[in-house]
Amino acid sequence: MTLKISQGGLAVKFPGRGKSLWVYENNKKRIEIPAPVFEIDGRRKALSVDSFREISKREALPGVVEHVLEGQVASDARLTLQLVIRIPKKNPFVRFHYVLRGDAKLTRSTGHDSITYLSLDMKAAREVREVRLSDFDELIHSYVPAEDAIPLQNFKDKVSLMGPLLCGSDLKKSWLCAYEHGSQPPFRFLEFALRPDKKADLNAMRGNYWNGFDLRNGYQTIWFDIGIVEGGFDELSREWREFVLRWMSPNSASRTPYIFYNTWNFQERHQAWDKGKYLDFMNETRMLEEIEVAHKMGIDVFVLDTGWYQKTGDWEVNMRTFPHGLDLIREKLSKYNMKLGLWYSPTHAAATSRLTKKHGDCLMSWNGKKSSAHPVWETEESFSYCLCSNYWESFADELIRCVKELGVTYFKWDAIGQFGCDDPGHSHGNAANSPEERADCYAFEQVRYMSKIIDRICAACPEAIVDFDITEAHRSVGLAFLASGKYFLINNGPYYRSFDDPQYAPGGGMGSNVFVFPGPARPRLCRQPLAYDRWIPSVLFLTHFLPDDPESSQTINIASMILGQNGIWGDLPKISAGGVELYGKLLGYYKQVRDEVTSAFPVCSGFVGCNPEIHEKIGKKGKGVVCIFTDNKGTYRYVTANRVNPKLKSSDDSVKIKILKDKRAEIIFNFEKGGAKIAFFGVE
Ligand SMILES: [Zn+2]
Repeated sequence: MTLKISQGGLAVKFPGRGKSLWVYENNKKRIEIPAPVFEIDGRRKALSVDSFREISKREALPGVVEHVLEGQVASDARLTLQLVIRIPKKNPFVRFHYVLRGDAKLTRSTGHDSITYLSLDMKAAREVREVRLSDFDELIHSYVPAEDAIPLQNFKDKVSLMGPLLCGSDLKKSWLCAYEHGSQPPFRFLEFALRPDKKADLNAMRGNYWNGFDLRNGYQTIWFDIGIVEGGFDELSREWREFVLRWMSPNSASRTPYIFYNTWNFQERHQAWDKGKYLDFMNETRMLEEIEVAHKMGIDVFVLDTGWYQKTGDWEVNMRTFPHGLDLIREKLSKYNMKLGLWYSPTHAAATSRLTKKHGDCLMSWNGKKSSAHPVWETEESFSYCLCSNYWESFADELIRCVKELGVTYFKWDAIGQFGCDDPGHSHGNAANSPEERADCYAFEQVRYMSKIIDRICAACPEAIVDFDITEAHRSVGLAFLASGKYFLINNGPYYRSFDDPQYAPGGGMGSNVFVFPGPARPRLCRQPLAYDRWIPSVLFLTHFLPDDPESSQTINIASMILGQNGIWGDLPKISAGGVELYGKLLGYYKQVRDEVTSAFPVCSGFVGCNPEIHEKIGKKGKGVVCIFTDNKGTYRYVTANRVNPKLKSSDDSVKIKILKDKRAEIIFNFEKGGAKIAFFGVE
């Protein structure tokens, strides 16, 4: 009899056959998942199994049960295939990966990766969409989402799609398949290849493994996600968004809508405008002064950016600038119930550091040339280390030591480019592989090692949050990192050189960053990526907004940041007393409803920058916010899509709110001049 697992409204069956290795069912709708196809010892084989048996079961995170099934591969008695599948109780999406093990080798006899992870039957689809997450838009110098309608003709034309989400709908029900990895188009590690028979094969393209990979060590695939919902793409994106927020990552702290402060903007201002050094004010006195203001404003997590440490690789406090270590800072933060965050460059270790002494063999190398030392933000010269080597464990242990000794729970990871190592002595290929193959495998494996580091930290410190700076192009952007942590999305948007070919702007004579001033332009730019919120919750895209006076700018920045990006940076001690009070008041309102705002599916009227641009984020029990932006004076009427909680507050007294009979709200926003206003619902 075929094994069956039921949970919530879902059932999963495991026939083990080539065309139907396992079957996903949701309320009588089903997706058959065929056996993955791997090239083993020179031959492509579909890995059907004789029969699956469940070998373990555990709660992977609250509300999600992980089942591990194993079977002997039918066509090759040397091999066993494991299916690891996580099924949530309250969401239609399941998450799974395979582990293949045995006395055989993975091969690339054509010189390319040769794996088809699955094939998705799209015959029933009347509409098909591809959702991409990693297009980099130079105009705003940020990653942005794209949701493209795919003509059905593309199956006949054998078009390939990068994804990572491929969605289909027959107008009554909709489904999607996603893979958890990350890179910037056109560079792709996997793709969906559309076939004339209306199937979509999810194929490995490069770097997924190296030729001769010894299966005695076990090959673990990346994670995949699959599910069906009733309704169209709106219902699909709503459930998927909920999956990413609540049921995908065991590290739930990464989804918590804290308000974050980061010291970098002031460091950069001082360097650019006062002609000082980045680290001139990275000291105990200044930090204690900033914490005092941050507390009054309502900031939860205080992040010391680069310069708090003596040298990279040792990650110990610079005792010259912090004579009491971080003790006084920690005391003050804990008095105010705030958390400590610190900046790290995971791939750097200074020439005289402990990590350098221990891991000389883990230096990044390219074409046989080892990484040379270079200065890191005015501190000792550092070497670059390969994350896909034994170095990763030592780095993770350094961070765990910092949790214990310094009390840090928030880790900002900077400067991790996706490419850069083709060394034969690490864990991404060996001397028998070509340098290109090893370089691809490094680029592929890197994000998996980042997740391994995070998992090790979170096992020691469950409240830990890791953010990965993707403020520049060519970083691993996709679902893999989001299953472990969150992204740090935008610094200051574009540089002058971003707008055109650099040859037309020689020297960048006006400074390099464009959007560094208070006023409406910078928050407008930073709101562009809120388009992610339809598929990926905005809480996962930290962006810092400027708190500088005047009040008009502060209101625009607050109204923007509470839509989910939740970051602040600037010169805190210079903010007027009235400004600090405004932050304290409005963020105080926000904090009463922030969990509902985070959960709420976004409702938008108008695009970013139009007049008016309105964002409604109202969640359970009618709690949440409506934020409006405009450049033109006048009166604007808005009726909420959701029913609201009648406890009302607003950013100023000119906002008039009336509760309608059906419990929705009519809001009249009266603008004397351009700016922003906020209506809060469910706030005392
Ligand atoms: Zn390497």
